[in-house]
Amino acid sequence: MANASLRQQLALLYQLQERDSELLTIQQKLQDIPNQIEQRQAQVAKHEVDLAAKSAELAEAEKTQRARNAEIETNAVQREKYQNEQRTATSNEAYSALERQIEFLDNQDAEAEDVILILMEESDQLKQELAELETLVNEEKAKTATETEQLRRELGTLETERDEKLKARKAFLPKIDKVRRDEYHRWMKAQLASQSGAVRANASFIALGKNGTCSSCRIAIQPQTLKEAQKDEKPVYCSSCKRLLYVEPATPDVPFP
Ligand SMILES: [Zn+2]
Repeated sequence: MANASLRQQLALLYQLQERDSELLTIQQKLQDIPNQIEQRQAQVAKHEVDLAAKSAELAEAEKTQRARNAEIETNAVQREKYQNEQRTATSNEAYSALERQIEFLDNQDAEAEDVILILMEESDQLKQELAELETLVNEEKAKTATETEQLRRELGTLETERDEKLKARKAFLPKIDKVRRDEYHRWMKAQLASQSGAVRANASFIALGKNGTCSSCRIAIQPQTLKEAQKDEKPVYCSSCKRLLYVEPATPDVPFP
C-alpha cells in the first residue's frame, strides 16, 4: 500500500516538524535566560556604583567640614595668643598690629563657618539621598535574587524538558523513511544556518493543506494540485511556496493532521 505509506510518512514528518518547533522554542528560551540573568545583575552592579559614588561624595563633604573646623580651632589658639600679647603690648602700634591679626583670624573664621554651613546642608541632602539609594539597591538586590533563582529553576526545567524531547525525537526518527528524513534535515540545517538558529515564524518544511489553503503561504491550493496530493501517490509541493504538502484527505475518516 504505497498510498497509505506516503500519507503516513507525511503525517510523521509533520509530527517531527511540530516536535522540532517545540524544541527550537525551548532552545531559544535556554539561550535567552542567561542573558536575562546577566541583564538583571548588571542593573544591580550599576546601582552599586552609583551608591559608592554618592558615598564618596558624602565622605568628601564631611572631610572638608572637618578640615574647616580644625582651621577654626587653630585660629582660636592663635587668637588667644594674640590677645595675651595685647595685654602686654608696650605701644599702640604693636596693639593695633595684633588687633589686625585678630581681625584677619575673625574673617577667616567667618568664611570657614559659611562654608561649613553649606557643607552641612549638602551632607544632610547626601545622607538622605544615600539612604534612599540604599533602600532602592537593597530592594533591587532582593528582587534580582528572587528572579535569578526563578530563572535558574526555569532553566533547569527547560533543560530536562529538552533532554526528554531529544530522547523522544531519537526514538521517533526511525519511523520516517531515511530519504525524507535526510531531506528534512538538510532543509532544517540550511534554515538554521541562514537565520542563525532563530525560531522562524512561518518557515516549515512540510505545509498543511487545510480547507484548500496552504498553511505556509496562506494561498489557495490549485484544485489540480489538491487532487493530485490527495491521491497520496507521490510527494506534491505547493505551487506558490514550494513546500511539501500534507493535505486534508478526501475522505473524512482518515485522521488529519
Ligand atoms: Zn504554500
